[in-house]
Amino acid sequence: FVKSSVIEGTQFEDDSDQETIDAKDILKRELQDERKTLPIYKFRDELLKAVDEYQVIVIVGETGSGKTTQIPQYLHEAGYTARGKVACTQPRRVAAMSVAARVSQEMGVKLGHEVGYSIRFEDCTSEKTMIKYMTDGMLLREFLGEPDLAGYSVVMVDEAHERTLSTDILFGLVKDIARFRPDLKLLISSATLDAEKFSDYFDSAPIFKIPGRRYPVEVHYTKAPEADYIDAAIVTILQIHVTQPPGDILVFLTGQEEIETVDEILKHKTRGLGTKIPELNICPIYANLPTELQAKIFETTPEGSRKVVLATNIAETSLTIDGIKYVIDPGFCKIKSYNPRTGMESLLINPISKASANQRAGRSGRTGPGKCFRLYTSYNYMHDLEDNTVPEIQRTNLANVVLTLKSLGIHDLVNFDFMDPPPSEALLKALEQLFALSALNSRGELTKTGRRMAEFPLDPMLSKMIVASEKYKCSDEVMSIASMLSIGNSIFYRPKDKQVHADNARLNFHTGNVGDHIALLNVYNSWRETDFSTQWCYENYIQVRSMKRARDIRDQLEGLMERVEIEVCSNASDLDAIKKAITSGFFHHSARLQKNGSYRTVKNPQTVFIHPSSGLAQLLPRWVIYHELVLTTKEYMRQVCSLSRIKQAVKEIIDCRLKCYGQ
Ligand code: ADP
Ligand code: MG
Repeated sequence: FVKSSVIEGTQFEDDSDQETIDAKDILKRELQDERKTLPIYKFRDELLKAVDEYQVIVIVGETGSGKTTQIPQYLHEAGYTARGKVACTQPRRVAAMSVAARVSQEMGVKLGHEVGYSIRFEDCTSEKTMIKYMTDGMLLREFLGEPDLAGYSVVMVDEAHERTLSTDILFGLVKDIARFRPDLKLLISSATLDAEKFSDYFDSAPIFKIPGRRYPVEVHYTKAPEADYIDAAIVTILQIHVTQPPGDILVFLTGQEEIETVDEILKHKTRGLGTKIPELNICPIYANLPTELQAKIFETTPEGSRKVVLATNIAETSLTIDGIKYVIDPGFCKIKSYNPRTGMESLLINPISKASANQRAGRSGRTGPGKCFRLYTSYNYMHDLEDNTVPEIQRTNLANVVLTLKSLGIHDLVNFDFMDPPPSEALLKALEQLFALSALNSRGELTKTGRRMAEFPLDPMLSKMIVASEKYKCSDEVMSIASMLSIGNSIFYRPKDKQVHADNARLNFHTGNVGDHIALLNVYNSWRETDFSTQWCYENYIQVRSMKRARDIRDQLEGLMERVEIEVCSNASDLDAIKKAITSGFFHHSARLQKNGSYRTVKNPQTVFIHPSSGLAQLLPRWVIYHELVLTTKEYMRQVCSLSRIKQAVKEIIDCRLKCYGQ
């Protein structure tokens, strides 16, 4: 290997301790040897030659062959980073972080220096950064500041087969800039074999295939459909553990909640197994898992024990865990679906596609013959599963993307070069929503409000709420609320044995029946008053980790406020002002109480309920605004705020409807 002298020179500048340098050196040498064992290594020179020769290449290779970790390093070694950064996009935050960490280790540099990552609300890069792993959404945002991506010499759109919304939009944008930047190299890499489609889209770009190593995988199906796949998964894990030869287990679940449930039950059940049965190490992995725990899934399993990785779809192609011999596939994943008629977006548990099922099975045969246990019947597989997952662009709310494209000066969305165009109904709906939010004018052009909104990496309703806070002079409060809402559902902590205490602590923030948004603000402000004390979080059953994340997000929003020239000012005593700002963004999400205690949404009438966890669940105000709908046993509104000034609320809503349909 030719190693760049830049790296050699700066390698351990922060370390003064001789011993750690030696240890690091050994590790680095080991990692360098390991790199050479990856399937892609044999094709290094050929690949570099192809990159030299062609501007756009489609790369196809089995998961784990080394595409994500090696190609950017090869490009760096070949000198591409001397001309500009190498970007490598990932659909998932965790993948971007974890891969960047790995590559920085392999190169023996500090994460965030030569190798870094950038994900929403977290930029771990520096002036020095040459290889930048980032989410596809972040690269999309970079176009806003640098429409020709001048700082980059290579863009690798990785995991292209995932067809996320941002990846699909990136395709159109990078294809366009490649025309006037002949020096920019584009690599489109994918784990599946339907590369022809990518090649066709990129004007018949050559396809570079990396033959993977794949050992035979025995696929087992259940005889009859399983009533409860969680239960079935647990039984299968234990059966494998007790009856099968050594080898780690990978289980695909749909989300954090399921993973935590299985984790808990497994811990309980394995306690009674006795000393004859080897130890079972349980390793969860999902998007919100704290970084320090994410690395655990990669640790080698100690002799005599077995590892079971409980993962979301992230382990399907984004992350490869060595040593997996058994895969358990319940056949489900969470996917976003959007109804353009009602404008409702929901995250639902759906059957996976055949392509996904095959990827999952393949995870067991990477280092030797494997076994895959499908918790569904072979009839299900043959007849019920779709061949491929529908690209996200065809099943999502497009308001955010439309706003981004408009701010990039792309007006003619109907003729944008989509690989698979979204339904025109969804495009119209997005335009309509942005118009109602005053982000676009009646000619569909970006307004000043819209331009300001586009600066925030948030859903348009949230960014409108923030921009509107200027008018109501409560930007300090609204930023805190937006940050807390962005954290999702993990602020309050409710241990099983202290539920009453936890609930009481939580009610303290709801004094005066202020609604959930203001309660979140109360939590944030109280924490800020204690100078961000961890002890305070413990005492109040608040997750300190979530709060720190909220603080980070808030800091960044504050930085963006400066960019859009909105003064940060506080108006804490005027709750009405805060609610007005919320309403300006979320008037689409208003609902009116019905006689039977349910609510009727104002736009696209539908029956919904206040979520039992809401501070307003018992109170049932006449008018409410909600943050989101979640479908569990019923369609619930989560994070609800009451509107005491009915007139004001109705007026805003009617205004909006007139604006939407009157023109
Ligand atoms: P591909 O992109 O082709 O699927 P990768 O480049 O992601 O392949 O993986 C190549 C190898 O690097 C795999 O053996 C994988 O286990 C290893 N690897 C990737 N990320 C990490 C990490 N964070 N820690 C340890 N090993 C990793
Ligand atoms: Mg990869």
